[in-house]
Parts: sequence; structure tokens; C-alpha cells
Amino acid sequence: MKRRNFIKSASLTGAGIIVGSNLTSCAEKSAEEREVPVSTGKTSLPLVIATWHVMDSTVKAMKILQDGGTALDAVEQGCMVEEANEKGQSVGKGGLPDRDGNVTLDACIMDKHGNCGSVVYLQNITHAVSVARKVMEDTPHVMLAGKGAEQFALSRGFQPEDLLTEASKAAWEKWKIEAKYKPIINIENHDTIGMLAIDKNGDISGACTTSGLAYKMGGRVGDSPIIGSGLFVDNEIGAAVATGLGEEVVKTVGSFLVVELMRQGKSPQEACKEAISRIVNKPNSDYKNFQVGYIAVNKQGVTGSYSIHQWFSMTKFQDGVNEQIQSDYFNKD
Ligand code: ASP
Repeated sequence: MKRRNFIKSASLTGAGIIVGSNLTSCAEKSAEEREVPVSTGKTSLPLVIATWHVMDSTVKAMKILQDGGTALDAVEQGCMVEEANEKGQSVGKGGLPDRDGNVTLDACIMDKHGNCGSVVYLQNITHAVSVARKVMEDTPHVMLAGKGAEQFALSRGFQPEDLLTEASKAAWEKWKIEAKYKPIINIENHDTIGMLAIDKNGDISGACTTSGLAYKMGGRVGDSPIIGSGLFVDNEIGAAVATGLGEEVVKTVGSFLVVELMRQGKSPQEACKEAISRIVNKPNSDYKNFQVGYIAVNKQGVTGSYSIHQWFSMTKFQDGVNEQIQSDYFNKD
């Protein structure tokens, strides 16, 4: 199957929306060519899984877990690898900006106790996931936004940086020539990094970080920093994280839904599939024109992933094997 871009006029706001227009070589070859396994049944701990093809991030997280670190440290530091990667144009430094040229980050983190922290519309700070962790640990709040989040980060010693790299600025300048406000849904490529880990003690944590949709309206916030939508962790049951068109994930409270379905007895795979079916089976669902993908893990260390379209993948590190696992998907037309 060839690479496909789904292009559609924006309906709600007239805003231009691009989901993932960037990096990772995984999109260059078909799943068959890459010999990507479709599933594994291993359950040994520790383990880490992440959305898309982010081998360096899972290596970092697994190193922490193998050294006896917590799942919370693992997911934070795993996500930080991709945030610092300037070539990644959907996360942290180098993320594609909104339509006004501002790079604005959304991130959240959740621990084994159900504590959580989140930042939305954060500017000038690369490691949004670490600011989210500070919100969780150092404030009585769950979520900080915009200037308040930035000031809080600065007060905690984070260094301000210009997140708009030359490459992302050039992409934005090119987009501005037409600025047709049409979303281009690239369903095969790397977007938000969402990461879930179980440490040696069997405790689960998760994190999620993104620069959101490229060329979004100023002020737009997606699912990624919304606890229950972009991420949810229940240490008794399991955890889930989402990527793709955030508006659709928010409307179905997707990650919470996946965890609740696991609580009712579904496997992680079945739960991800059911959460996707809630989106695609809505009356007049426009699913052919956008991508959503979920990954999930249960308390036993069984994992699953499912997406609307082909090419979504999960990176999984377990038992010394760090591998990309192609997700099963709904739209087989
Ligand atoms: N879910 C993210 C958002 O809507 C984008 C993505 O995963 O590509 O902001």
C-alpha cells in the first residue's frame, strides 16, 4: 500500500490542521518490507511502550527501569529524548508552530497513585513533560496554561529557549504562501509521543507530550494534556495513551475509556479497538479523513494498540527486545 495523505477542508473553524508532517523513516517502507511484527504476547516486567517509532526514547526509559528506577522517571525521561530532538517536528524543540508562528506545547504525566500534572499552551520551554511533572509534584493544581505555565517553569529553573527551529520556520513560511487552512492528515508518521511503563515493582505511570496540530489556531489545545483523553493511568488496571486528531479523542474521553474497558475485562487490544469504534461508528463520522491511535497496557503487562488507519505503530521494549510493532486498524478499504 502506498503512502496516503488525507486532505480535507476544515469545517469547524476554517483553521488549517496538519497532523504529523514529519520525521521517522518508518513511513518509507511498508510493514511487510520492514517485517514489523503485529503482536507479542509477552508479559514480563519491566516494560515500556510508546506511540510511533521512537526507539531512542524507549531505550532511555528501559535503562532507567533496568537500573531500578520508577516508571514515573522512565516515562518522563523517555519523552524528554524526543522533546530535545530538533528533527522531530511534532514534539518539543523544533515542533511545527501554530498559524501565527508560535510553537505551543501540551503535555501531561500521571503516576501510580493517580496524581497528575499537565501544561497547555506552554511556550519557550523544551521539556514540557518535566514542567507537567513539577505541576504535579510542586503545586496543588493539575493543569497550568500559557504564561502562567511558563512563569512557573522559569521559577523552577527551566531555561527559556526559542523552540522555532530554522526547519520548522521554513515549513511555516511555505505553508503561509497558500495558508488554505486545509488539514493534511498524514496517517503514517510520527506525532505526539505517548509513553507507558511498568517498573520492576509492577507500578504503572504514563506521559504524553506534543506540539499539537501544525498551523492550528492560536490558543488551540488538543487531547494530549487532558487527563482521561490523551492519557490515563489506573495502577490497579492499566494505562492508555492516544495520538492523532485530538478533538476526536477529547469528544470520546478516549484514554479513560480504554482503561475502563480493561476494567470491565477487555484485553488492551480489545479495549483500544472498542475506543476506536466509538469514534468511527458515530453518525456521520468523518473518520476517513483523520487518524486516531491508542496504545494500552494492563496490570499484567499485556499490551495492545489499534488505530483507524494503517501505519500507526507502537514501540515496545521488553525482555531485551526493542521493537516497532505495527498496529491493527479499522479502515481496511
Ligand atoms: N493528539 C495531538 C493533538 O491533537 C496531535 C497528534 O497526536 O498528532 O494535539
